[in-house]
Amino acid sequence: MKVLIIEDDPALSQGVSEGLRSAGYEVLAVGTGQEGLDFAVGPNPPDMILLDLGLPDMDGYDICREIRAVSQVPIIVISARDDEIDRVVGLELGADDYVPKPFGVRELVARIRAVSRRIGGEGASEKTDLQTLGDLAIDRKAQKVFVKGEEIHLTATEYELLSVLAEDPGTVLRRTELLERIWDTALYVTPKTVDAHIAAIRKKLAHPEWIESKRGVGFRLDIPR
Ligand code: CA
Repeated sequence: MKVLIIEDDPALSQGVSEGLRSAGYEVLAVGTGQEGLDFAVGPNPPDMILLDLGLPDMDGYDICREIRAVSQVPIIVISARDDEIDRVVGLELGADDYVPKPFGVRELVARIRAVSRRIGGEGASEKTDLQTLGDLAIDRKAQKVFVKGEEIHLTATEYELLSVLAEDPGTVLRRTELLERIWDTALYVTPKTVDAHIAAIRKKLAHPEWIESKRGVGFRLDIPR
């Protein structure tokens, strides 16, 4: 599922992007209304839009209306202003939900799921949430991992690491990249931390060869089909 984020605050946009990616979503982030509109109504449209109303170049209300004129894509408005709720969620704009700032990524993911269930009908998102790679299965909705159908109990960090590696099997992800994706601040985290978590995952999966180590560089997931 592809989510378009239209938000001009880079820190917020990045935080949300990372959170959604680790929840299994494909994310595209833009900082202006015009770019957002271009993507929203373009040839490769998103499945969901997160729209900030306070954008530098265009009024969020106008963006919402313009998208609605040509597309039924679900829109979740994010805004710092409480008094906007009624106008936004009302029929006037055609947005599907509203998340007030500040919000946590968990809350946002819950809203996205609720909206896609409501819009997409039964089981629309359920099917795509299970990723299978050979004997490994990752249920991104329940955040559970299975080997040959048996659940493997990973810590939250181990789960994040494995699911990031599984987004792009066969591709080496650098330690620095993993640090950036999984730890919000790398202040107290060193590349050795990554190695320690990877070692723990290997042990739990009972298949150390599934995660290949490129010494001094990073790791890749390589599971036989
Ligand atoms: Ca803004």
